[in-house]
Amino acid sequence: MIASGMKEKLNKHQESARAFAEACRVLPGGVNSPVRAFDGVDAGPVFVASAKGSKIFDIDGNEYIDYVGSWGPMIVGHAHPSVIAAVEAAARKGTSFGAPTLAETALAQKIIDAFDSIEKVRLLSSGTEAVMTAIRLARGYTKKDIIIKMAGCYHGHSDSLLVAAGSGLAESAIASSAGVPDAIAKLTVVVPYNDIEAVKAALAKHKGNIAAVLVEPVGANMGVVPPINGYLQTIRRLCTADGVLLIFDEVITGFRLAFGGAQELFGINVDLTCLGKIIGGGLPVGAVGGRADIMDILAPTGPVYQAGTLSGNPIATAAASATLDILAEKGCYEKLESSSAKLEAGLAEAAKDAGIAVTINRVGSIQSCFFTDRPVRTFADVQSTDIQRFKKFFAGMLGRGIYLAPSAFEAMFVSLAHSTDDIERTIEAAGASFREIG
Ligand SMILES: *Cc1c(COP(=O)(O)O)cnc(C)c1O
Repeated sequence: MIASGMKEKLNKHQESARAFAEACRVLPGGVNSPVRAFDGVDAGPVFVASAKGSKIFDIDGNEYIDYVGSWGPMIVGHAHPSVIAAVEAAARKGTSFGAPTLAETALAQKIIDAFDSIEKVRLLSSGTEAVMTAIRLARGYTKKDIIIKMAGCYHGHSDSLLVAAGSGLAESAIASSAGVPDAIAKLTVVVPYNDIEAVKAALAKHKGNIAAVLVEPVGANMGVVPPINGYLQTIRRLCTADGVLLIFDEVITGFRLAFGGAQELFGINVDLTCLGKIIGGGLPVGAVGGRADIMDILAPTGPVYQAGTLSGNPIATAAASATLDILAEKGCYEKLESSSAKLEAGLAEAAKDAGIAVTINRVGSIQSCFFTDRPVRTFADVQSTDIQRFKKFFAGMLGRGIYLAPSAFEAMFVSLAHSTDDIERTIEAAGASFREIG
């Protein structure tokens, strides 16, 4: 039984396995971004041939309902006709000029209209650049060096932010990537997510030296971990009292939880906002925006330097504007909410029927199904869930045509393209997959 099942599974992904072996000869680990290698699920990756709407198609001819959505950007679905049309039209007029265009001003205005806290915006090419620029701005503006971040929050791969808590103590910042000098890691103080006392302690301990508190308003890179009641509001109050800037990393949550991001959903006014993923509509775009007095210290008006050959690239900007235009239409967020709520309820019921303990955390169209019978509020909570069970669940779902993120520490992303039929098929597959691991 097991042997033939395994064989079938291998045959199903024969071309992907061959392609991966070939890729490994020329790309470190066979991929250009680590999680794509499927290391988190003890398997090899699926090589994608194409995608349309809620579906992706691999090079073996398998079809999947996709809950990765390129890790967030594809909120309107893959290959949306108006995004593709915008990209094609832009490409015909030239792919890059390195000079200002009308489209950049128009996109900036759309972002400013969407976010109450944003008066000016700089367009860049990735979320990493957005957060890197935000902390440089915060340091330049406050003339302080220390950044407080939360364990389990991901802010891209710049040196200052590849730091996670060793022991959960504020002062125990260690570089979690080789190649990040301790001298830089030391300037990043890590506290547990959802622990307001730890933020207070860190603010007190480093008082007078702190540039900013940086947080994902909804943790979405350790699976989905929502803020506990009052968490974000209290951080806002503490930052204001101490003259510390508050930066929301809304690279995932911006234009996803609401058009105006998590700050709209929770009613928080922040100093700087980092955007990425969705604003590119599947092309490389990042943005940092915020108060004009802070943004204006960026070069060329101010002393904080930042630049980019492809920043505001016309094709990327066209995809971005087309995507935001779709999301601005009435009813989008209601549709995302109802599809996602249906999925959440279905998964919960399927797990219960199979006798599998799960905790599902959901905010709008992002959710995570953790294998545990306890609430999940911190990175440590996530780490204590049953990762082996997740791996089996992942394999069961992939075999049934459901493409989940290949890691227990990632979210499920629902898009506007997910139909009722997609959600029902997913719940059915989940039922079978839960029963298999039970
Ligand atoms: C993905 C992500 C980033 C980094 O964005 P890239 O475009 O991958 O550089 C930063 N912050 C958060 C919250 C993210 O999810």
